[in-house]
Amino acid sequence: MPIYSYQCAACGLRFDRLRKMSESDSPQDCVECGTPARKMVTAAAFTFNHPASQTRGMAPPSTGTSDDWNYDKAIGRDAARRWEHIGQRIDRKRQVIADNPGSTGYDLSRNPDGSYRVMQPAERAQSEAGRALGAEVQKAIQAEKKGDG
Ligand SMILES: [Zn+2]
Repeated sequence: MPIYSYQCAACGLRFDRLRKMSESDSPQDCVECGTPARKMVTAAAFTFNHPASQTRGMAPPSTGTSDDWNYDKAIGRDAARRWEHIGQRIDRKRQVIADNPGSTGYDLSRNPDGSYRVMQPAERAQSEAGRALGAEVQKAIQAEKKGDG
């Protein structure tokens, strides 16, 4: 079965689907928002026969975007994984905040195993002192830069 590209008119997401040619024209539900998305006209034949995906011939000049479907797919999977990790991290933080009613969310620290804990007052004071020092240093650097300019 060929691969067809669809684009959602509601959220703009592009995604690919393996489909029978006879069914390719019917809209596909957007994987992001569920709105029926329409088939794009460029798609499969072009990317499969693209010189960049073959061993012979010259690669096309770089346009800053990729025409290699498999490459885009890998990036998409990687991005999805990263977002998933970010989501899990936010969930863990929310759980710690829920378990510690006094927590503001700004007093969390990450443990080596990736979990979060609420910092004790002494630890928090240290952390804030460290941040304040960092801000001082940044200010000094900016002042130095301005002096040169
Ligand atoms: Zn959508």
